[in-house]
Amino acid sequence: MAKNSKIEWTTHTFNPWWGCVRMSPACKFCYAESWSKRLGQDVWGAHADRRFFGDKHWAEPLVWNRNAQGSKERPRVFCASMGDVFEDRADLDTARTRLWNLIEATPALDWLLLTKRPDLVLHSVPWGRNWPTNVWLGTTAENQEWANKRLPSLAKIPAAVRFISAEPLLGPLSLAKWTHAIDWVITGGESGSKARPSSPAWFRTLLNECMAADIPFHFKQWGDWAPGQGENLAKTRAASVVDGTTMLRIGKKAAGRLLDGTTWDGLPRIRLA
Ligand code: SF4
Repeated sequence: MAKNSKIEWTTHTFNPWWGCVRMSPACKFCYAESWSKRLGQDVWGAHADRRFFGDKHWAEPLVWNRNAQGSKERPRVFCASMGDVFEDRADLDTARTRLWNLIEATPALDWLLLTKRPDLVLHSVPWGRNWPTNVWLGTTAENQEWANKRLPSLAKIPAAVRFISAEPLLGPLSLAKWTHAIDWVITGGESGSKARPSSPAWFRTLLNECMAADIPFHFKQWGDWAPGQGENLAKTRAASVVDGTTMLRIGKKAAGRLLDGTTWDGLPRIRLA
């Protein structure tokens, strides 16, 4: 299956538009904002216009869908990496309606809608209680405070898969109260020049809870910071103590994605339409 996304847990990425406005600590060093600015796109904040795309861009998922027909693998499409599908702006409604139609027209693809605004989802989609089976709905939980704010809304959404993106993980987090409502947990640390370190203990708590509740667990990356032990000691550029553990800044590539010696690539059960 051809893959056009560098993100481990998805096959493709699709952006109905570019641009957004920050709304919680996970957004502080938003990669999409930096990337847009680097490309000269002024699309961030409440007052900037968003960047929209033409028919050629919107036709790409139709090609992925055609290529996936008859295959046993179901490509996953991450939507969106350069914005939030549920941002509360009326000028996005036309593109949103086009997106709902596109999702319905591509049943061989699983669409992963990841939002920091799960409270707006049910007002926005046209599906009521009968969602297409190819839509997975996820929300970000970067710490306990934001998990407590967002997960009650996520739990009410009748998506085929409900998932959590605990990335960048910025504080201790327990999902124990919500395991009945969650089908998949993705987590990882932050990368980039201003990355904030995460404690290994925070990742282990999530891993243990997922194992106990039989929820697939995906550890995407350490990010720029890794535990201060072994060969990491020779590569360090900075150190920080987080929740009692010394973390070293060694860069995303050197830090890798092993948690306690294991690659965690869990995926939710594949549901064939
Ligand atoms: S919601 Fe996502 S795209 Fe929007 S500012 Fe936050 S991190 Fe960036």
